[in-house]
Amino acid sequence: MKTILVVEDNRLNLELVEQLLEDDYVVITAMDGEAGVAAAITHKPDLILMDLSLPKIDGWEATARLRTEPDLQETPIIALTAHAAKEALDRAIAAGCDATMTKPIDEDQLLEEIARYINNGRGDSVVTGSPSG
Ligand code: MN
Repeated sequence: MKTILVVEDNRLNLELVEQLLEDDYVVITAMDGEAGVAAAITHKPDLILMDLSLPKIDGWEATARLRTEPDLQETPIIALTAHAAKEALDRAIAAGCDATMTKPIDEDQLLEEIARYINNGRGDSVVTGSPSG
């Protein structure tokens, strides 16, 4: 099974996502940005779900730090956030996230996005999003 790291400081949200994923993936969790970075470096997950508002370091900073790690350049990172403002989402992409999804999450859409990124990686996801289709 592929491994997904979920970085989320809200316990209820974390449990919701864990329950959604645990049948199909190994789920690792972290509840603040620093712990998320440490867990990613240690476990090298196949994909990361990153909350943006997090204690210690936020999800934008955590993502930027992960992208400085040679082993994590190709790891898909999906931001899950209550920040619906375009500026916040654009900053997440600029920090190194591959996609953003706003809470409350659409479970089917999240599972589809995860499957797509886990199967295709970051590179193909860029192609998918290009105007050439
Ligand atoms: Mn949060």
